[in-house]
Amino acid sequence: MPAVAFARQVHGAAAARATGGGSAGEADVLLTTTAGLPAAIVTADCLPVVLYDPQVRALALAHVGWRGTVGGTARAAVQALAARGGAPARIVAAIGPSIGPCCYEVDQAVLDPLRAALGPVEPWITPRGDGRWLLDLWAVNEAELARAGVDPGRIANARLCTACRPDLFHSHRKGSPGRLVTLAMLPAAG
Ligand SMILES: [Zn+2]
Repeated sequence: MPAVAFARQVHGAAAARATGGGSAGEADVLLTTTAGLPAAIVTADCLPVVLYDPQVRALALAHVGWRGTVGGTARAAVQALAARGGAPARIVAAIGPSIGPCCYEVDQAVLDPLRAALGPVEPWITPRGDGRWLLDLWAVNEAELARAGVDPGRIANARLCTACRPDLFHSHRKGSPGRLVTLAMLPAAG
């Protein structure tokens, strides 16, 4: 297998283009048009999002936690593909294992910036009392992708919660020291 491309993830919305293995720089969106180059995003509760336009053979991976959601990382990933000739309506998207609405408890310090960035968050939160809410970051980012022009019918979500399934995944919230690697690669031309 060729060397893997990755980025130094900083909970931002910047995109870097990978043309070979190794670090593509500081970014939370990793874009590649290089066939046969595996690109990796590392997470442990944050959302790994993979976007692909089969017609232009461009691939983008994104690392999206609550800060990235505030920063518009999922939309930035769609825009990065569009800048390479991708058409949002043609994009197929996948959301990998990440913390689900069953377990992602947040406080006002998360909801305030989310509200400021995205407007009302009530459709995505469930009160838990004592100033805590459960946040459905999956639904927020599905909505963000749709807002960027991705067809909701083309968004696949494994709906596997990292915090619920310590038998399968690492979870930062559950104190696991490990990380999950999401890999995607454009097929070799043919
Ligand atoms: Zn869960």
